[in-house]
Amino acid sequence: MQVGPSPHGGGPIPSLAPREVEYLERLAGGQTVQEIARAWHYEESGARSIGERLRKKLGAKTNTQAVFVAVQMRILDPTRRHGDHAGFAAHRYRGEEPCEACREGERAYRRGLRAARKTGSRINIRP
Ligand SMILES: [Zn+2]
Repeated sequence: MQVGPSPHGGGPIPSLAPREVEYLERLAGGQTVQEIARAWHYEESGARSIGERLRKKLGAKTNTQAVFVAVQMRILDPTRRHGDHAGFAAHRYRGEEPCEACREGERAYRRGLRAARKTGSRINIRP
């Protein structure tokens, strides 16, 4: 992910590992630490320790603050969403490889479509 200059002219932008950026994107998408751990096939403590390292790098006390700081630092793009069909489509549109969260969201979306086709019910994109 491209990291722009700090909008507030503060300290240097910390360099984050891809997993740390993904952790932020998943938090921003509303996932809990437990859900992130499950998606990664990690123990919850493993996901938590990534979160701790991330919060330290961002100087944030909570996950909520970490997401906010990441937006301020332009690590997260607030105009984009991840983890669902729309996020997946946005990656495709930009010619990017979709991130893991968006691939997962797309799979859930397709499962929902298939289920809807089978039962003739309305589309339910929740798995
Ligand atoms: Zn994505």
